[in-house]
Amino acid sequence: MRPLMRADLHVHSSASDGTDPPAEVMRRAALAGLDVVALTDHDTVAGHAEARAAAGPVTLLPGMELSCRLDGRSRGVPGGIRVSSPRGWQSLHMLAYLFDPGQPMLAAELTRIRDDRVLRARAMVDRLADLGVDVSWEQVAAIAGQAVVGRPHIARAMAASGVIASPREAFTRDWIADGGRAYVDRYALDPVRAIGLVRAAGGVTVLAHPRAGRDTRVTDQQITRLAAAGLAGLEVFHPDQSDVERARLLALASDLGLVATGGSDDHGSLTGYRLGCETTSAGAYQDLLSRVPGSPA
Ligand SMILES: [Zn+2]
Ligand SMILES: [Zn+2]
Repeated sequence: MRPLMRADLHVHSSASDGTDPPAEVMRRAALAGLDVVALTDHDTVAGHAEARAAAGPVTLLPGMELSCRLDGRSRGVPGGIRVSSPRGWQSLHMLAYLFDPGQPMLAAELTRIRDDRVLRARAMVDRLADLGVDVSWEQVAAIAGQAVVGRPHIARAMAASGVIASPREAFTRDWIADGGRAYVDRYALDPVRAIGLVRAAGGVTVLAHPRAGRDTRVTDQQITRLAAAGLAGLEVFHPDQSDVERARLLALASDLGLVATGGSDDHGSLTGYRLGCETTSAGAYQDLLSRVPGSPA
């Protein structure tokens, strides 16, 4: 057994909103001394082939980060669910690993999410036009290129048009921040359904950064319900989670029999290059693999 194994199970590339192409991510992973890297782009597996070809000495764990929502109204949880989002529902992120992306139900869901992203981005461009902002869909699509189109691309088009000085300024209530004048809501999966879809496709799920920010804060009660639905792990070690929250999440993972994982959530230069700044222990990694449906372990 190797004395040390370093596994970063949460990494983005330019296939979603990271700045570096998948091959560059794998090259940096090797430089960072990582043994395992999970490529977990938002709602897409488009980067896997390139990452696999460039993996070199690093083991690629194919993954994805699914955007989910808990609808506060339709859940009969005693005491109610605290909805902390201005949208009236709560978003959460679900990491998924080792699933078959071609499994028909999962594939259909991914197509739906991807199609919706385009419709939503177009709708936001329309609203900006109504507000007098000179940004076209063609510009936004050109900026996004091969990536899944999203608000960062619209923000860059807005900056290019001169209506704002830098892309960051687009994320206010005046423009495309959550609940902003030109904001359009998006389609997102119910997390219990996401867990089921990924399991049916032969994979495992880990709840991403449950305590990283107000908008994606998931309560103990909600995590307990997800564990009962087949969740395999909790992301405990994440740059945006405090030591206090980590200790709480570790205790909860232990109580619920969930794997405690870690990852950098690296987005290239956007987050400051930080591959491997948080990792998953060798034991937790093996435990996660043993929970893959049909695993011999
Ligand atoms: Zn996330
Ligand atoms: Zn992420």
